[in-house]
Amino acid sequence: MAPEQPENPASPARPCPICGKPSVQRFKPFCSSRCADIDLGRWLKGNYVIPGEPLDETEEAPMRRDEDS
Ligand SMILES: [Zn+2]
Repeated sequence: MAPEQPENPASPARPCPICGKPSVQRFKPFCSSRCADIDLGRWLKGNYVIPGEPLDETEEAPMRRDEDS
């Protein structure tokens, strides 16, 4: 296993906020363009948007099934 990215001990490398890997100078503060893209996607979607979120699922509709045979 050869070290791919020699880091300068002078510059403290922050871990990637997405996956926790050491960040790369090119994609700071992320480790790769992929993680940067993920973070960007979160921003664009407004952080916490659940696709297909149920609207009023908590309120159970009074459905009465005639199972009384
Ligand atoms: Zn990452």
